[in-house]
Amino acid sequence: MPVDATLPYDDQNIFAKILRGEIPARRVYEDDFALAFPDINPQAPNHILVIPKGAYVSWDDFSARGSEAEIAGFVRAVGTVAREAGLVTSGYRLLANTGPDSHQEVPHLHVHILAGRKLGPMLAR
Ligand code: AMP
Repeated sequence: MPVDATLPYDDQNIFAKILRGEIPARRVYEDDFALAFPDINPQAPNHILVIPKGAYVSWDDFSARGSEAEIAGFVRAVGTVAREAGLVTSGYRLLANTGPDSHQEVPHLHVHILAGRKLGPMLAR
C-alpha cells in the first residue's frame, strides 16, 4: 500500500522495528545517524537500504525537519556504504521514493543503493 508521505510518523513501521532491534536485519553499516541493511527483495545484485536513525517519514520530512548534523551524517553514510561495498568504480543508483506516485511502501525514509549490473533506463517507460 503506497504511503501518504504527509502523514505523521508511525513508530510501528517495519524500519522503526528494525532500528529498535525488534525485527532482524543484517546490519552492514551503522553510525550515530544511519543504519544500512540489505533489501529483503533485491532488485539488483547489490541492493542496500540506508535509513536515518531519526523518525522521518520521507525525504520531504527529513529535508524539512532534519538537523544539519543529521542531514550531513546521513548523506555521508549513504556514500560510505556504497564505497565500502566497492560500488564506486562500476557505479550505482540512488533512489528515495516519496509518496504515492513513487510507490513508497515503508513510511520511514530510506535510500535504495542499487548496483551490480547495468541498471538500464532510469524509469520504466
Ligand atoms: P519503497 O517502495 O521505496 O518504500 O521500498 C521499500 C523496500 O523495503 C522494498 O524494496 C522492500 O523489499 C524492502 N523491505 C521491506 N521489508 C523489509 C525488511 N524487513 N528488510 C529489508 N527490506 C525490507
